[in-house]
Amino acid sequence: MSLMQEIIAKVQEKDVGQPEFHQAVKEVLTSLEPTVDKHPEFVKAKIYERIVVPDRVIMFRVPWVDDAGEVQVNRGYRVQFNNAIGPYKGGLRFHSSVNLGIIKFLGFEQVFKNSLTTLPMGGGKGGSDFDPKGKSDNEVMRFCQAFMRELYRHIGPDTDVPAGDIGVGAREIGYLYGYYKKIVNDHTCVLTGKGLEFGGSLIRPEATGYGAVYFAAEMLATRGLEIAGKVAAVSASGNVAQYTIEKIIQMGGKVITLSDSNGTIVDETGIGREKLDFVLELKNVRRGRIREYAEKYQVPYYPGKSVWDVIREQGLKVDLAFPSAHENEINKINAQALVNNGCFCVSEGANMPSTLEAIQIYQDNEVLYGPAKAANAGGVATSGLEMSQNSMRMSWTREEVDEKLHQIMKRIHRACLEAADTYGRRGDYLTGANIAGFIKVANAMLAYGIL
Ligand code: NAP
Repeated sequence: MSLMQEIIAKVQEKDVGQPEFHQAVKEVLTSLEPTVDKHPEFVKAKIYERIVVPDRVIMFRVPWVDDAGEVQVNRGYRVQFNNAIGPYKGGLRFHSSVNLGIIKFLGFEQVFKNSLTTLPMGGGKGGSDFDPKGKSDNEVMRFCQAFMRELYRHIGPDTDVPAGDIGVGAREIGYLYGYYKKIVNDHTCVLTGKGLEFGGSLIRPEATGYGAVYFAAEMLATRGLEIAGKVAAVSASGNVAQYTIEKIIQMGGKVITLSDSNGTIVDETGIGREKLDFVLELKNVRRGRIREYAEKYQVPYYPGKSVWDVIREQGLKVDLAFPSAHENEINKINAQALVNNGCFCVSEGANMPSTLEAIQIYQDNEVLYGPAKAANAGGVATSGLEMSQNSMRMSWTREEVDEKLHQIMKRIHRACLEAADTYGRRGDYLTGANIAGFIKVANAMLAYGIL
């Protein structure tokens, strides 16, 4: 058994009931195999064993009162995974599926993603099994205040800076930040994704989606191709999906799918600017369901199906895929169907949206595969830019932030290819992303001694 296999087995034995965390550890450690021989100092200092254990896990009770006057109790989490290269940084997820294993997988991935951005940010993640869907604004506010009532003592602008993720958008960040400011009496950069009026950065809402498209454009350029004229499948219709579509439209591509947890729409004429504006209003203001798009524009709606099911079942031809919903949304059979239907580029906006078997299919078929920790790093990178602007008490223009984001995505793309090359895996973005992210964190951990 190799060292990596031993560590993976130990994580599976010790961290019981956390399949998503096991999956993330397996993916990362397997691709770090080529670093073992080159870095005996990492082996001696047990860096590999240490990096899979979080610095600390915080779990807490979140009691709040709903509109009917009933007391509700949710579970809150913050996993501060690794702060070797900077304060913990990573989003908060509010969704009924949230549990410790999911937050640990997200925090672990975040360590390498944040390192890849080249900005000084450690990795963390948090959230709750509270689901804002179907709740009134007042209920969401009361929940956010109850959540922050405990979280505030664990975070700080130089300690841990959370942001949004699934179920945590501008509304939730406003309530969370407002309550933090009230009880700590401090107007600091303790959250990113803030409103523009109170310290937010231009382009932060757009950054993850834009970044995933910039990353895809860089991958395509290695084969002399571009986004213009290509047909794309995008899943979900949340923050990441919305701005992925916007950037694809700007770059001359055509998006033909959208979904939410109830079903999928297919619009073969393309989701253009006007239709995207309808989606933004539907999802961000009215908080409605994607089915309404099908009713308004008279296009097919597939209830209970994911975008990837529909591509397989309907034989839809797409060139590019941007999974933007949730972990493991693309399984083996849907990955095979995607490839059979002509897809040659997958850029992951969501975190770990492809199963390990799906990734194998991309690799076997030479699909340009941009793994989440590289392709969706634009969001946290722009959060890093928001932190810089807050520290300097200044703000950059939309164009300045977009240009910095674009350059960061190009640098991440280059870093992935260079690391893959150096460690004998030319063109393998997954291995490249994991190794490039890991080396910097490992060197910092080594410098600190045994901590
Ligand atoms: P969001 O705005 O809350 O949107 C989530 C979208 O995914 C919604 O359309 C939601 O549909 C859909 N979805 C969630 N769970 C689903 C399920 N089980 N089945 C089908 N659809 C589901 O969240 P987001 O910020 O766009 O995040 C999407 C993904 O990107 C996540 O994996 C997140 O970790 C990742 N990510 C986000 C950022 C960021 O900056 N926001 C950065 C990096 C990575 P419903 O409305 O029906 O639930």
